[in-house]
Amino acid sequence: MESTPSGAGEPLALPAHKRLDNDGRPPTLQGTVLSTLNSDGSRRWIKPRPSTGCFLTARRIVAYILIAIFALMPLARLNGRPLILLDIAAREFHILGATFYPTDTLLLALFAVGTFLTIFWMTAFLGRVWCGWACPQTVYMEFVFRPIERLFEGAPRANSASPVGPIARTAKLIVYAALALLMAHMFLAYFVSWDLLKSWIFGSPIKHPIGFAVVVITTIAILFDFGYFREQLCLVACPYGRMQSVMLDKHSLTIWYDHRRGEPRGKKRASTVSLPVLAPTNVPPGDCIDCTMCVTTCPTGIDIRNGLQMECIGCAQCIDACDRVMEKIGRPKGLIRYSSQAGMQGEKFRIMRPRVVLYPAVILTLALIFTLTLLNRGFADVTLLRGLGQPFTVMPDGQIRNNIRVKLTNRRDTAAIFRLHADGVEHATLTTENRAIEVPAGETIIANAEVHAPAAAFHHGQARISIVVSGPEDLVLRRPFVLVGPQTNQAQESGR
Ligand code: SF4
Ligand code: SF4
Repeated sequence: MESTPSGAGEPLALPAHKRLDNDGRPPTLQGTVLSTLNSDGSRRWIKPRPSTGCFLTARRIVAYILIAIFALMPLARLNGRPLILLDIAAREFHILGATFYPTDTLLLALFAVGTFLTIFWMTAFLGRVWCGWACPQTVYMEFVFRPIERLFEGAPRANSASPVGPIARTAKLIVYAALALLMAHMFLAYFVSWDLLKSWIFGSPIKHPIGFAVVVITTIAILFDFGYFREQLCLVACPYGRMQSVMLDKHSLTIWYDHRRGEPRGKKRASTVSLPVLAPTNVPPGDCIDCTMCVTTCPTGIDIRNGLQMECIGCAQCIDACDRVMEKIGRPKGLIRYSSQAGMQGEKFRIMRPRVVLYPAVILTLALIFTLTLLNRGFADVTLLRGLGQPFTVMPDGQIRNNIRVKLTNRRDTAAIFRLHADGVEHATLTTENRAIEVPAGETIIANAEVHAPAAAFHHGQARISIVVSGPEDLVLRRPFVLVGPQTNQAQESGR
């Protein structure tokens, strides 16, 4: 997939009075690293001018729906459980009525791989539609924080040196801080139960210092991101943005400037004289009137007329901006539009491509395996872990003792009693402090146990045994385990 960096070594085709560096000089592409850097390396603050149009309206509707979903998801309940609660402290993940534990490794792995493949597929098909339409960074920045900024500081000005009064700036920061605090609670509701969060909100911070610290740190992080870091997150920190060029192909849907129709650009369409570098004098002017509306509206500060760039988040604001210009000058809309590299080169758009077919096939297979595994998952899980400390002990009666830890998970809504016994090695016994082990509803516990086995059972320092776990509803789970002991000769000596 062809893409051009922001800097191509050409003079930037913008009027100097419309885009000035912080040092008051017009920027050039010579040596440009990022669209948000001035030539002296200082930051160029982006204050995009909003451009009304069908894409902005559609994105605004999508954004408000997503914000509502984001706020309500942790509060909604299904089967008496939160719709989504990623309780890391309790190591329980409630998602859409199902509860997952760290022992559900296969399900979690399938979910992770499926998620990545879905992102790959979506990007190959629809380009950066996630970034421009649904990413929380874009949604909150463009439809919450920027409108508030415009409310207090006014519409973006061509001259960035125009001062904003301290009262307006302070008022904006206060509103930002209140919003960040609210968002921090909304965000944390995904990780701590609503009841616990309420106790954090209404209780004294002295009673829950860790919870208080988490809220404060999250609030500061949100404030830093939306108040200061902003588009830098997309440009320099987001790994998805960095990887998109390997996920796209020439038929992926992306946003393009129609170079053939727009060039040579110039202020007056009737004139045959355009920019000296780009337009020979005997070529009729293109539709681009070089108004720079597509640039001043861009939230990442790029000029889409330089081609597809890594910084383009696919927000379509430049389409709305240019369509309005085309309307005004009586030219057809779509000088900037959703298209593909193939489309811009005059080739036929192909929906069916190997990656667009293969990704969904693999995703569907994974989804099938996930569903079958989920449906056939029992209410209990047993994991055997080797005990801490020395691997084995030779007991005074000559038997070999191994310490094991039995991790028991109960997914039922009521408590369950489990019992353990050893099988597979003659005369092996299992002792636990508590042979009837109770596991509360929806919890996991670790029970310590000792296995005593005759030394004669060990060959080359190992003996294979099974730990059998029985429980309610006729549950019987058998887990293999390798006991360790002395090498055969030592064991035989010990056994004599
Ligand atoms: S908004 Fe359209 S006409 Fe104006 S500079 Fe951009 S591409 Fe050219
Ligand atoms: S170039 Fe257009 S689509 Fe890309 S980020 Fe800028 S305004 Fe959005």
